[in-house]
Amino acid sequence: MTFDDYQAKAITTNLKNDDPVLELLQQVLGLGDEAGEVQAIFKKWVRDQGSDLHRLDTENVKKELGDILWYIAVVAHDLNIPLEDIAKQNIAKLADRKSRGTLRGSGDNR
Ligand SMILES: [Mg+2]
Repeated sequence: MTFDDYQAKAITTNLKNDDPVLELLQQVLGLGDEAGEVQAIFKKWVRDQGSDLHRLDTENVKKELGDILWYIAVVAHDLNIPLEDIAKQNIAKLADRKSRGTLRGSGDNR
């Protein structure tokens, strides 16, 4: 499955808001919410599982990462951005940083 195939399928399951601004806000808030769900799994893993990698619920992490992917696909669609473009641009940015030795450090425009 390509990123664009995934995006095309993901948007068929979106309960779209009729107001485009509210639609976008709803999806961006959902994206943050799902990122928080991933963080909650890790918080409970540290708090309750002694940070033991063998006890990390990776199936649940996988599900929540999928939810993040869904929201990224939908937000991108709402902004008329093909998911494939985001993936390609991100890999190109990281490859450029690697070639210039700036993978470490901070700042969005390294
Ligand atoms: Mg979720």
